[in-house]
Amino acid sequence: MTEQKQSVKVKPPKFVPREQWDGYEMKPWLKQDQKKVTVMFNFLERRKSYYLAAYFHRKKINFIDMGDHVKEDVTYGKLYGNRMECNPMYFTSGSMIRNLLKIEKETGLSKAEISKRYIFLCGGGQCGPCRYGMYPQEYLKVANEAGFEDFRVLIFSSDLGKVPDSENHAFKFDLPFRINLGIAMILADLMHAAECALRAYAVDRKEAEEALDKADKMIRKAFESRFYLWALPRVLKKIGRMFAAIPRRDEQLPLIYVTGEFFANLAHNDGNYHLRRFITDEGCEVIPGSFTQRALYDNWRRTVEAHRGIKYASDPEEIKFWQKSLKKQRSSTKVITWFYNKYCEALQPASFRARTELMDLAELAELARKHYHPEIFGGEGNLEIGEAIHLAQEDAVDGFISSKPFGCMPSSGVSDGVQAKVLAMFPELNFLSIETSGDNDVSILSRVSMLLLKAKQRHAQKRENAAQPMEAEVGAVPAAAPVADGKQGEQYA
Ligand code: SF4
Repeated sequence: MTEQKQSVKVKPPKFVPREQWDGYEMKPWLKQDQKKVTVMFNFLERRKSYYLAAYFHRKKINFIDMGDHVKEDVTYGKLYGNRMECNPMYFTSGSMIRNLLKIEKETGLSKAEISKRYIFLCGGGQCGPCRYGMYPQEYLKVANEAGFEDFRVLIFSSDLGKVPDSENHAFKFDLPFRINLGIAMILADLMHAAECALRAYAVDRKEAEEALDKADKMIRKAFESRFYLWALPRVLKKIGRMFAAIPRRDEQLPLIYVTGEFFANLAHNDGNYHLRRFITDEGCEVIPGSFTQRALYDNWRRTVEAHRGIKYASDPEEIKFWQKSLKKQRSSTKVITWFYNKYCEALQPASFRARTELMDLAELAELARKHYHPEIFGGEGNLEIGEAIHLAQEDAVDGFISSKPFGCMPSSGVSDGVQAKVLAMFPELNFLSIETSGDNDVSILSRVSMLLLKAKQRHAQKRENAAQPMEAEVGAVPAAAPVADGKQGEQYA
């Protein structure tokens, strides 16, 4: 038996991988081709893209603003992309393909020619341990699979396509671009907050919507100016006055807080079933997600990371590296908050009751610490937990929705697990977690409707409770004091 075994020859495998697969190669976009190439982009939703377009206009770079994501994008993304991705990837890569095919149809250019003449710019670089951070290559895969070979993409905060002679690049994610991107996002946040306040309470909703459209155009025009740093606060002042003059109903509607994963929370379009608009149309007020808050969270987490890096550094070089990162995060946070405060000061959101307050991230982290360690990074990290505890403690909202793409690792996989504990601590928090997939609107929105119904009941109850002491003051018969009936706590039996 032993002899027989020894005589068996082991066959080598037919295919032996010799090299590591390095992904698609991408040629840089060089200065000599600058005028020949058009940049296609969309950042989360149409308002952010619309404002950002002012930068390209000012720089005289040819561009196509691809606007909002639509459901069809998911189909294109799934058709050419890998399986089991989270839907921000399907939405964004699908939108790229939908627009490339549209260009092909409208211009009659060949796919090869389109690959030379267009370039796609988007976010989604190395954002953390979750999947989207590993996706830069995926855009190239999707484009190549759809027939646009050698198509190029520019991805914010990714190394993709970077070559040593960066001096010759036609486009750089340099400081001016970063500042313009930040400004566009802040302006969009403020206008979304305005929209949530005005659409919910305006006596004439049409009038509010027209004012918002007008404001968008005014901002874009001011942002296109070479003197935008001066023009924007001036125009925001005018807009603030215009919004404050819109007649509004003097009442408080049930208040719904929306949070969740970056894309599912902030897309404000088919990417999250137009959640914000749906909630307002159902007769509630919504506190929308804020990109600024999310950007500050990224800085905050990098700051925590840098402190830890310095503490455990093994040599002076490493200390230097983390100190540099710390400095970068501090200045970025200062710049973001400076612009945010400056624009709030000009707009005066309180005059039309828009909710634009930013939360204290260190405080949120401390609130969540016991349940979600602040140094577990990825996606939104401890944010959703901190927000839920904070709002439950303050009894500040009537409903709390956490929106995330189907199967999102940090948000569904971790946060939602921890939320079970938060809900056990605060059973009165009217919480709903929804997973967006790009389809299935009816079932998701009917779940949201149920939360809204509960929110309305809660809100009515709160108002009733608040009215009772006033009745007592004007001589109403005081309600009988609760009598211990020996049944308390039975529900736990
Ligand atoms: S946070 Fe979730 S949805 Fe967003 S990229 Fe990561 S895994 Fe995907």
